Amino acid sequence: MPEFTIPKTQKAAVVTKTGGSIEIKTDHPVKAQKDLAPGECLVKLDCSGACHTDLHAALGDWPLKATLPLIGGHEGVGTIVAIADHTSKSPVNVGDRVGIKWLADSCLQCEQCRKGLEQCCSEAKLSGFTVDGTFQEYVVSYVNHVTPIPEGIPSDEAASILCAGVTVYRAIKNSQTQAGDWIVLPGAGGGLGHLAIQYARVRGLRVIAIDTGAEKKELCLKLGAEKWIDFKESKDIVKDVLDITGGVGAHSAVVTSASSSGYVQAIDYLRAGGTLMAVGLPGTAKLDASIFFTVFKSISVLGSYVGNRQDAREAIDIAARGQVKVHFASRPLADLKDVYEGMKAGTIAGRVVLDMSKQ
Ligand SMILES: [Zn+2]
Ligand SMILES: [Zn+2]
Repeated sequence: MPEFTIPKTQKAAVVTKTGGSIEIKTDHPVKAQKDLAPGECLVKLDCSGACHTDLHAALGDWPLKATLPLIGGHEGVGTIVAIADHTSKSPVNVGDRVGIKWLADSCLQCEQCRKGLEQCCSEAKLSGFTVDGTFQEYVVSYVNHVTPIPEGIPSDEAASILCAGVTVYRAIKNSQTQAGDWIVLPGAGGGLGHLAIQYARVRGLRVIAIDTGAEKKELCLKLGAEKWIDFKESKDIVKDVLDITGGVGAHSAVVTSASSSGYVQAIDYLRAGGTLMAVGLPGTAKLDASIFFTVFKSISVLGSYVGNRQDAREAIDIAARGQVKVHFASRPLADLKDVYEGMKAGTIAGRVVLDMSKQ
């Protein structure tokens, strides 16, 4: 078994109080192997993706509140450098490359866990929200829930699959669509959306991308979107979708946007029997859609929350085979504050990955 030297302190981005104030510390303690509880492992991170959820956690604008002080981050990839003593039947070993996702741990015994809905476990631990996450060099995680990363995909390319990728992968998988169906992706040029285009294409779906600006348009079309609607230029998004689909509407929409309008429109542009996958997590917005037309058109409205261990493995596998590529910019951990500003302004195309080796 490989031996790793584990330092006592490390670099970490710590949020001490809600409101987005991040402090980059260089002397944050690293948990020693002897202090790990059974089932825990220590992962030396290569990198971590930055997700909108991290911004919500730092701002504290969600109905759920994060544990403070907090180290955010839940798209980490690195190597297991230690596993706790008395850990039985670990599916991973020291030296393995693994990913850390939003769902850090769950009980594996309750009804939700038994049914593969472990992200809804009442004892779930959430990376970068209720337990320290991946905006640090060494993170404590859980052997039963880390995702093995196959060879052939670099860590920085795998990182964003662990939240953004898994989330849209599961939503598309459960969208009740088949090859040749139309799927609408509002926010298609963003972190989740650009991965959704590719996972939709892997399943043979025809993509209508909605977003704004020349850069995002180019990205969406390059990734395989068949049609593009610029929501700032469009006079009527519902009409545009109906026109594209021969007047009958799309089969499904995966709505990742943070505003409620995207959800309301979807009910109007979906065809009868269509499925609205609700994926974004706006803090307070309500789903203010027409009940009449939801019933009259037999629309399914399904919430889809991140993904389970199997979803993570499937999503990462597709990416490792080169069928899904993350469009990302690599930045040092110290840039996190800047990255949050970009997210607030909606100016980030694709994803940001924080490289732990960069200064
Ligand atoms: Zn459980
Ligand atoms: Zn996320």
